[in-house]
Amino acid sequence: MLRFKCPVCGLRDETEFDYGGDATVVRPATAETAFEPWYDYVFLRDNPRGPHREFWHHSRGCRQWVVVERDTLSHDIGDVVLARDAVKENRS
Ligand SMILES: [Zn+2]
Repeated sequence: MLRFKCPVCGLRDETEFDYGGDATVVRPATAETAFEPWYDYVFLRDNPRGPHREFWHHSRGCRQWVVVERDTLSHDIGDVVLARDAVKENRS
């Protein structure tokens, strides 16, 4: 079983969380009208081998969204940060 260190609640079992998707996907600009960027954003995902950033929702805890760094081969868990803080880092 995976265990995540929630920034709010501390170390918790994976069963308290729901997977929320790939945290590396970048949303196209709102003004983007071409089909391909939106198709890629909505439907296409990589299947990475190794370290990966994922959204998880602590739905049976503090109800915060977090970004978890997880190795897809070993399931080792790296940093866990609040999603709102991770998004700020990506925008700066
Ligand atoms: Zn929490």
